[in-house]
Amino acid sequence: MSYQVNEKGFYGEFGGAFIPEMLYPNVEALRQNYLEIIQTESFQTEFQQLLKDYVGRPTPLYFAERLSQKYNTKIYLKREDLCHTGAHKINNTIGQILLAKRLGKTRIIAETGAGQHGVATATVCALMGLQCIVYMGEIDIQRQAPNVARMKMLGAEVRSANSGSKTLKDATNEAIRDWINNPIDTFYIIGSVVGPHPYPDMVSRFQSIISQEIKKQLSEKEGRKNPDYVIACVGGGSNAAGAFYHFLEEENVQLIAVEAAGKGLDSGESAATSVLGKIGIIHGSKTLLMQSEDGQITEPYSISAGLDYPGVGPLHAHLHTSKRAEFAAITDDEAMQAGLNLCKTEGIIPAIESSHALAVLDQKTFDKNDIVIINLSGRGDKDLNTYIDYFNY
Ligand SMILES: *Cc1c(COP(=O)(O)O)cnc(C)c1O
Repeated sequence: MSYQVNEKGFYGEFGGAFIPEMLYPNVEALRQNYLEIIQTESFQTEFQQLLKDYVGRPTPLYFAERLSQKYNTKIYLKREDLCHTGAHKINNTIGQILLAKRLGKTRIIAETGAGQHGVATATVCALMGLQCIVYMGEIDIQRQAPNVARMKMLGAEVRSANSGSKTLKDATNEAIRDWINNPIDTFYIIGSVVGPHPYPDMVSRFQSIISQEIKKQLSEKEGRKNPDYVIACVGGGSNAAGAFYHFLEEENVQLIAVEAAGKGLDSGESAATSVLGKIGIIHGSKTLLMQSEDGQITEPYSISAGLDYPGVGPLHAHLHTSKRAEFAAITDDEAMQAGLNLCKTEGIIPAIESSHALAVLDQKTFDKNDIVIINLSGRGDKDLNTYIDYFNY
């Protein structure tokens, strides 16, 4: 079985490019050029240099000794939380802005829900001196005021999406409308392995640096390239795609994708797409998504803003359907406890998204000699208020 995208942009039955005709020239130009550009030496040199000197890569593969003792197995944390801006998202925005420049684009648009992708996009636009417009739902603008302030400080214009539920999907609609109206000078930076082909594949490639480094680092530390397990949380699925990428064809490496069960799978307030979703089209891609009987997208919920997405990228839909990856669902409460546990056993405050991946340690038993890698997608600074409210500090 192949887990790579095929020529038509599909992973198994998922993916493709289901887009309005007016968007076709933009997406088609990207599809025709992305592989050639990112494989050039000049692109790779600039990309690798920025990952090293600007992002701070390679991020450590840290052996978590006390956590390992507690769970009686061997746990390594891939420290994406140590990336510049505090999470893996910057790997992707750097890749896309270098691509945008090579395509001659001068204006960058993005949409953001919690604001993390907006901040990562505003950051690279400042770095490259390009104009940046970030669409964000009116409600999200109110909920995520610190990230709005960050984007403004970085020179971006934040435009409010006031239609529908005034959240992420409405911001996405506005961004798509903008791109249709500005096809020549504008590049649309998408923040996860979602959207029409070639975005899921392109973003996976940019994030695949995570598993590339894991292989090298594990060889040095353990004398073997492959762990027994790789665990990562899934919102749209980009940190998981990056952590899984170079292990996809290595069937002896077990992949665990962790979704947010919110207040519980049956509560009506969750984001566990693989359990609750059905096949549908979102953001130009055929994938699993949470929807009502008549196909309306259901508003997702999770305590962690980054996992609060009603779909998963097409690669993950394929990994789920083909059973290549195991999918776990973690509630808000389980994630919050796992996050606090990491603080107290290792002195690391994780993003609440990453806490969902950590919570698998309480749900599943690993052998003493297993090597378990958990992708620590981000740091918890941005979540301090949520932790404070939850634990009454
Ligand atoms: C955005 C975000 C996620 C979820 O996005 P993916 O595309 O699924 O990786 C997970 N962790 C952190 C820290 C994030 O900021």
